[in-house]
Amino acid sequence: MIGAGPSNLALAVALEECGSPEVAEGTMILEQYQDVKWQRNLLLPWTRSQVSYVKDLVTLRNPRSRFSFLNFLHERGELDEFVNLGTFHPFRWQLSTYQQWVADTLEHVQVRYGVRAERVLPIHAEDGAMLGFAVRLSDGDTILCRDLVFGAGRAPFVPEVFASLPAERVVHSTEYGSRVGDTTGLARPGRPLRPVVIGGAQSAAEMFMALHQDAPDSSPTMLVRSIALKDYQTSKFVNELFYPSFVDEFFTMPEEVRTKVLDEMRLTNYAGLAPPFLDELYTMIYRQKMLGQPVSVIRGLTEVVDARVESVPGGGAEVVLEVHDRRSGGVEQLRCDALFLGTGFDQEMPAMVRHLADTIGLPEVRVNRQYRVDLGAGAKGALYLQGVNEATHGISDTLISVLAHRSADIAGDILERRTAHPGAGQVSARQAAVMPI
Ligand SMILES: Cc1cc2nc3c(=O)[nH]c(=O)nc-3n(C[C@H](O)[C@H](O)[C@H](O)COP(=O)(O)OP(=O)(O)OC[C@H]3O[C@@H](n4cnc5c(N)ncnc54)[C@H](O)[C@@H]3O)c2cc1C
Repeated sequence: MIGAGPSNLALAVALEECGSPEVAEGTMILEQYQDVKWQRNLLLPWTRSQVSYVKDLVTLRNPRSRFSFLNFLHERGELDEFVNLGTFHPFRWQLSTYQQWVADTLEHVQVRYGVRAERVLPIHAEDGAMLGFAVRLSDGDTILCRDLVFGAGRAPFVPEVFASLPAERVVHSTEYGSRVGDTTGLARPGRPLRPVVIGGAQSAAEMFMALHQDAPDSSPTMLVRSIALKDYQTSKFVNELFYPSFVDEFFTMPEEVRTKVLDEMRLTNYAGLAPPFLDELYTMIYRQKMLGQPVSVIRGLTEVVDARVESVPGGGAEVVLEVHDRRSGGVEQLRCDALFLGTGFDQEMPAMVRHLADTIGLPEVRVNRQYRVDLGAGAKGALYLQGVNEATHGISDTLISVLAHRSADIAGDILERRTAHPGAGQVSARQAAVMPI
């Protein structure tokens, strides 16, 4: 499995609990970092999970599991305090620690840290049947496997208009924690940092809020394309569309219906903020106004149409944004030091999966209901994709809500294939050696 994020950790738990220890023992998770951290660069102390802790890695599939969030708290002696907090929404760092605890307490599945999967190549038998995969790692090692599960998340999306700016001036939300220190150094002596945050969803708003603490004398501006910041949709009726059972319903809809449903569901997840957080943000701006200390600005109906770096008289440089005001139709300049992009993720299939599909010669990457890519008739190995199947499995595919059930779907499919073809498709070093890795 590539990636020790929630998707693959939930699958590891499902494999440990599937009743076949040998399948779990033959499983390894590769993680590029030295530890497990959920949303590592936006692990701000006050950020919370947007879904209930009951939707942890396992409870909806197996409420008796020892890998549940409640058991994690119980084993650490923290259950009373958590219950007394009276919330369904733990802090993000708490769920992150829970995920590390799950990784640490797996009995059979191994986690190999500090290695990045760089390239995957298919392994074919002499008769052309696909046996499995060779995964080349950043430390020079190569791992051979019959089944490969991709759970590595998506690549950050940087809009074209910012693509030519120097890297030190642009911070995507996936880099915030590790980069904010260097960007605050961009402030010139005697002049505080002038950061601009781009985007109107949760990640953008979290960076905006955090900059007030991380760059205390700064004057952050947030540019939002839509009319204003909005809550994301939390109606209980709409929330029913996040039930794991809705995946079946969505999967069987005609493609054009799925597209429309996805579009209508955008405000349940993207382009909106968690309502309590939106209130906090509004209150912060209100306080600034009422105390006569307005330092930050949130501007709706604005769109950046050009961005460049210009030198400043007396030395140094600054970023100049050409901002289109959608109200007046005019364009004005906004000068700043650094840009913080809450612009989300690339919706394309991740590059590693696309390269593999090209090497195999797949015309398109599509998964079946069990998240398995169609590798053609006779394939013995299997490729499963987690978290990149919104188009076929619905908007909850990128979320934690469905992880417990999705991991049961994938684990069940792996077991079924192993039972149907025991021993088939074992990949040997000799077979892999013929591959140009
Ligand atoms: C700021 C933020 C907050 C969110 N909050 C919520 C929330 O509250 N509730 C919710 O349901 N969803 C939330 N989401 C959605 C989020 O996508 C899921 O919560 C979840 O993280 C998806 O898990 P994943 O395992 O598929 O991917 P990720 O969490 O992205 O994990 C991927 C893992 O793979 C590793 N990796 C990547 N490439 C490689 C490689 N080549 N080799 C080895 N390792 C690799 C990464 O280091 C990482 O550990 C949030 C998303 C963001 C950005």
